[in-house]
Amino acid sequence: NTPLHELDPAVAAAVDAELHRQQSTLEMIASENFAPVAVMEAQGSVLTNKYAEGYPGRRYYGGCEHVDVIEQIAIDRVKELFGAEHANVQPHSGAQANAAAMFALLKPGDTIMGLNLAHGGHLTHGMKINFSGKLYNVVAYHVGDDGRVDMAEVERLAKESKPKLIVAGWSAYPRQLDFAAFRRIADEVGAYLMVDMAHFAGLVAAGLHPNPVPHAHVVTTTTHKTLGGPRGGVILSTAELAKKINSAVFPGQQGGPLEHVVAAKAVAFKVCASEEFKERQRRTLEGARILAERLVKDDVRAVGVDVLSGGTDVHLVLVDLRDSELDGQQAEDRLHEVGITVNRNAVPNDPRPPMVTSGLRIGTPALATRGFTAEDFTEVADVIAETLKPSYDVESLRARVTALAEKHPLYPGLT
Ligand code: PLP
Repeated sequence: NTPLHELDPAVAAAVDAELHRQQSTLEMIASENFAPVAVMEAQGSVLTNKYAEGYPGRRYYGGCEHVDVIEQIAIDRVKELFGAEHANVQPHSGAQANAAAMFALLKPGDTIMGLNLAHGGHLTHGMKINFSGKLYNVVAYHVGDDGRVDMAEVERLAKESKPKLIVAGWSAYPRQLDFAAFRRIADEVGAYLMVDMAHFAGLVAAGLHPNPVPHAHVVTTTTHKTLGGPRGGVILSTAELAKKINSAVFPGQQGGPLEHVVAAKAVAFKVCASEEFKERQRRTLEGARILAERLVKDDVRAVGVDVLSGGTDVHLVLVDLRDSELDGQQAEDRLHEVGITVNRNAVPNDPRPPMVTSGLRIGTPALATRGFTAEDFTEVADVIAETLKPSYDVESLRARVTALAEKHPLYPGLT
């Protein structure tokens, strides 16, 4: 029972350094968040020791009476949260949830449609060297000149290619999708509709974004982005597809579920049903809106900075640097220098290579979790705007970042 600091000082030191990094900088990667201490407690519990292949009440191992209780709580809570008929809480990640959902509904060689990666889709929606692009015939749809998914193109491609599955969902897209329109098109061509709500699930849980569950055959999500839980995945589906989904996860894709993570998911779903969570999601949206409004003002426009689609309806803003002297890599590095963490991101029809890019994806969930208010987000937006100008002053901007970080201490009990 030797504690980590004694048993493995090298790993312990890096963990401590990471805690300090999270506490002292502003985390604005749109897919990240800060899990509550109770979620981390569940995830760091003795449940990590337990094998539990199978599902509650039908396991292939003995001694599952307690993990059965936990997994059933997680299932019941997430069904209630999103109004789903069926839930599988075992996928180890969002990518594995998507792999299992596709494995349940498709055969290799079937046609799928998804949003092109460079237009905001995810790797698992049909990228060439991902399993989805290798196993299935991919027909990608795109955003139009207005930065919004071109539903006329979706309809045309669906009629031409007769996909077996249409994926609606995104990793870098600042607007809401029209799930009813996607379902109408899917029905017209006899396709399944799968919505990947990994990014916006927290907004849905809070009632601040349309819920895809009533429209889709299958909905997948991660649990660590806006949902604010442990790293992991979930699949929701109609009751009719329940058996197919469950057997695609286990034994189709995975062996033993990570019951310590399932417990942490259960705790996170409890938090998601709270008023405090709803209020946090409201601040998340407000923060993104404030940021978008600041980044279309004349002073930043003058240095070639713009916002894709002109604004945001969700928790992130896509900054367009095609007309800026700064490329995505340089802008990411410069923000890092002042203590703000973001990721560079390709914009549609990006003239720069994928490792460089002409965009930034900036999200507000982690700062909202930290307690940032509209006033704080106004200051953050101003710091970002100033950092993207040639005249930026590292020392004074870093001091403003430090002041914000100190105003909202993260994990104050942890050292
Ligand atoms: N789906 C979407 C839309 C995502 O944005 C992501 C991750 O960024 C995933 C799936 C994959 O999740 P994970 O990283 O947990 O595999």
